[in-house]
Amino acid sequence: MKITHLKCAIIGENPVVRIVTDEGIDGYGEAENTKTYLKPHILFYQPYLLGEDPTNVERVMLKIRRLGSFKPWGSAVSAIEMALWDIAGKAAGVPVYKLLGGKVRDKVRVYNGGVRFKMKGSSPQDYAENVALMKEAKEGFSIIKQGIGFHSQMPWQVPDFFYGDISSGAPHPNRGPLTERGLKHIIACVEAMKAVTGDEVGLALDCGPGWMLTDAIRLAKALEPLNVMWLEDLLTGDYTPYVLADVYRELTQSTTTPIHTGEQIYLRQNFRELIERHAVRIIGPDPADIGGLAELKWVAEYADLHGILMAPHGIFDGLIGLAALVQVCATLPQNYIAFEYPVARPEWWYEIITGLPDPIVKNSLIDVWDRPGLGIAFDIPKAKKYLSAEDQDFFE
Ligand SMILES: [Mg+2]
Repeated sequence: MKITHLKCAIIGENPVVRIVTDEGIDGYGEAENTKTYLKPHILFYQPYLLGEDPTNVERVMLKIRRLGSFKPWGSAVSAIEMALWDIAGKAAGVPVYKLLGGKVRDKVRVYNGGVRFKMKGSSPQDYAENVALMKEAKEGFSIIKQGIGFHSQMPWQVPDFFYGDISSGAPHPNRGPLTERGLKHIIACVEAMKAVTGDEVGLALDCGPGWMLTDAIRLAKALEPLNVMWLEDLLTGDYTPYVLADVYRELTQSTTTPIHTGEQIYLRQNFRELIERHAVRIIGPDPADIGGLAELKWVAEYADLHGILMAPHGIFDGLIGLAALVQVCATLPQNYIAFEYPVARPEWWYEIITGLPDPIVKNSLIDVWDRPGLGIAFDIPKAKKYLSAEDQDFFE
C-alpha cells in the first residue's frame, strides 16, 4: 500500500487530515480547534509521505518527526500519525488499540473537560455555581477541572490580584508574584468549589502557567487538606516551549498536592527529565501535540515505571481526536486516571461523524468500540455541506 495524497480541510474550527492510499483505504486525524493556521503546515509534510506504506507507521514518522516542535507545531505531525494508525487499523481489520498492544480496559474514564458554562465572575460564589453546573452535567463526570489563577479571569477581575502587569492582553503571557490578597482569593474559590464537589467528584485545577515558584509552593501546601486531584501547569504549560523540570521538581517535593503538567510537550525526549527526576506526580500529554498515539503510549509506560500518573489533555481535540484518545487510553497501563473530554465545536460535528456511542459518556466512562481503525467515519454527504470553497475536493 502506498500513500497517494495528504489532504487537509478546516472543518468547523478543527484542521482535519486525510491520508489517501492506492488501495482505497483512507485515514483521518485531527488537530485542536481554533488552529486553522495549521493547514499549510500540515500540507508541508506531503512530499515526505507520498509513496510510503502508511501501515509502517513508525517508518513514516521517522521522516517527519524531526520536523515538528512543541505546541502548536507538533500538532501537524501528531494528526498525521493518527491518520496513519487509522489506515493501519482499517488495513488489518482491527481497532487501533490492538495495534498499540491491546486494550487494558473496556471502558475509558474521562474528566471534564469540554462541557463548560460561562463564568459570571471570579468570586468564590461564582466558582461554586459554575462547578455545580458541571457536576450536574449528563456525562456524570467523576472528575471536574476548573481554571484558577493565571488560567482564569482573576488577574483582571480580582483587584490587586498580583504585582505584575495585566496590560499585555491574553491571559497566558502574564507572569508575576501574587499578592497575599490574590493568594487568599484563590484559596477561597477552591474551598467554595470543594464544598460543592465534596468527595463525590474529584476537583482538578488548571492554574497557569505564570506562577512564581514561591507562590506555587504556598498554594500547593495551603490546598493539602482539600485533596484536590491535581494542580496543572502552575509554572510552565499551554504554549510554553520549554519544561523547567528542576523548578517543577522543587514544587513537587515541597507538597503532597499532586502537581501536573505536559499538555504542550512534544516527544518522549522532552518528557524525560520530568519523568526521570520525578518532577511532577501526573503528566498530561495530548495525543494531538505529543507526536501521536504511539508516542503517548510510550510516555505513559515510562511514567508508570517512575510512579507518575497519566491524565491526558484533549479538550480541543474534536471528535476524531476523541476517537484517538479512546483508542490509546484503552491501552495505557494502570497509572491512567482519565483523559480530558472534548466536545464538538461547532455542535454540528455530531451530525457528520458516525460510530461514536450514544450517549458518548455514561457515568464518566466511554465504552471502547471495536470497529477497525479509529472506528469512526464521516457521513460524507452531510459533511460536504460544511466544506469551504477551497476544501471542496477533500473527500475525493
Ligand atoms: Mg491545561
